[in-house]
Amino acid sequence: MDNKNLAELLFPDIDKTPDDYERMYPERDLPAGAMVTRLGPSPTGFMHLGNLYGAFADERLAHQSDGIFYLRIEDTDDKRYVEGAVEVIISSLEFFGIRFDEGATMGDDKGSYGDYTQSRRGPVYQCFVKKLVEEGKAYPCFLTEEEIGAIREKQEAEKLMPGIYGEYAACRDWTYEQVKEAIDTGKPYVIRLKSDGKPLSEGEDGKQKGRRVRVNDAIRGKLEMPENFMDVVILKKTGIPTYHFAHAVDDHLMRTTHVVRGAEWLPSLPIHVELFEKLGWELPVYCHTAQLMKIDEESGKKRKLSKRKDPELSLTYYRDQGYHPDAVREYLLTILNSNFEEWRDANPDAPVDDFAFTTEKMSSSGALFDLNKLNDISKDVLLRIPADDLYVFLKDWAAEFAPEYNHLFDDKDYLVQILDIGRADRKPRKDLIYARQIIQFISYFFDDLFKIEDEMPAEVPAADISVILNAYLDSYDHSDDNGGWFDKIRAIAVDNGYAAKPKDFKKHPDDYKGHVGHVSTVIRIALMGRAQSPDVWTIQQIMGEEKTRGRIRAYVDGLR
Ligand code: GLU
Repeated sequence: MDNKNLAELLFPDIDKTPDDYERMYPERDLPAGAMVTRLGPSPTGFMHLGNLYGAFADERLAHQSDGIFYLRIEDTDDKRYVEGAVEVIISSLEFFGIRFDEGATMGDDKGSYGDYTQSRRGPVYQCFVKKLVEEGKAYPCFLTEEEIGAIREKQEAEKLMPGIYGEYAACRDWTYEQVKEAIDTGKPYVIRLKSDGKPLSEGEDGKQKGRRVRVNDAIRGKLEMPENFMDVVILKKTGIPTYHFAHAVDDHLMRTTHVVRGAEWLPSLPIHVELFEKLGWELPVYCHTAQLMKIDEESGKKRKLSKRKDPELSLTYYRDQGYHPDAVREYLLTILNSNFEEWRDANPDAPVDDFAFTTEKMSSSGALFDLNKLNDISKDVLLRIPADDLYVFLKDWAAEFAPEYNHLFDDKDYLVQILDIGRADRKPRKDLIYARQIIQFISYFFDDLFKIEDEMPAEVPAADISVILNAYLDSYDHSDDNGGWFDKIRAIAVDNGYAAKPKDFKKHPDDYKGHVGHVSTVIRIALMGRAQSPDVWTIQQIMGEEKTRGRIRAYVDGLR
């Protein structure tokens, strides 16, 4: 009786009952086996690789099973809220091909299980807190920060687990009158769970004993951990719930079947088990993903990716560098599922969504992130994208992230030919990785970006450079085919004391200054500023006769 009155005293304005909400948000009408997953980012304005990693898993599980994937904004921690963060969340995930069926959007919510923003769900949470108070499973606690601090100090001094539980839970057994008096004097309070758990105690054998909870994690298998015994806060002074309580209420009412979240939530799992139990609800299937790790460049050891040290943790990094979303997706799948690469080898051209993603193949011990591997995968992925599409991708990227390059897109045919160099060969060239690197890689095709980057080969004496380049200009015929063109270079080499073939030079190094390769490097550097490049003849054909001659001439002029 007292509890009922207490609940009314605390929540006089809550008139809906839990049953009302159960009716408002009925079981979803989905095919058997369909999974309902959600992403619950906090709107801090920072989207990291872990968010995307989890989002991929959520998205695959839902969409592979004809289920629902929704976005819920978890803004119960108002200190962390950043203006415009929701837009950042949606747009950055959209870029990587993550689409939600339901939930928060840039405009109004979509779907009938909302509100999808936690700060707007106050009355829903309060309704269920009221129910717990009514049933004697939760209570108001008036302990001040100072009092809690003092309790902690005492516990620390006695080497006890810090927290509000058992004898430290001073308000746990307060009567209705005590609570009423405190409220009447205006004392602020939180609502705590009245835990049934018992702290671990030392058994006769000296070992810690206590009840344990068991959960079957879809990634980690059977988990067993000590039960919760803390009277954790479920509703803060502001009437806003803690993560724990919001998680239970939202995932129940929104009918989430699979909770994919980071391993940092594992320690609070016993709290969630007790909450679901006290609320009389079935647990969702938990999928605790691995931490993203990298090999530290300095120590060579595995460590967690850090916001401070690793720019690649932020999703903006990939947008800014101009990684193609397909490459990031493909790469993340290789770290998400251990059998993905094998599948890709067997199905090189299949759409990535044909891969059957499973939680069982997810690592539980730390997913190793490696930018070099991403780059390797990106090379393969870009090879499968037609040059026309790459052109559009790069153009859009430049418009957003590097407008100083916008003019490179004025002549589409020119750029498409450049992007296609060597890609149709039997052993295709894999030069292209991400937008910033691509622009740098092809920069010599554009006069305003062209610069001499490499040194002339040491085998060629300075006096020979203009001789070689002048001879090249004299013999140059833009209509020569690749073979005819190279024959002329060989002739220039021989005329000037260089071996026609590298192996001749190797055998008799004293007979020559160098070989034909050194001569063609002289031309390469004058033309492209680099000692390494794709096939020179092909490049000249794309550049056209005028630019080709112009570059050689300018180099010779510069020597004077
Ligand atoms: N808001 C939580 C976070 O950002 C979400 C955890 C969850 O998915 O349950 O870490």
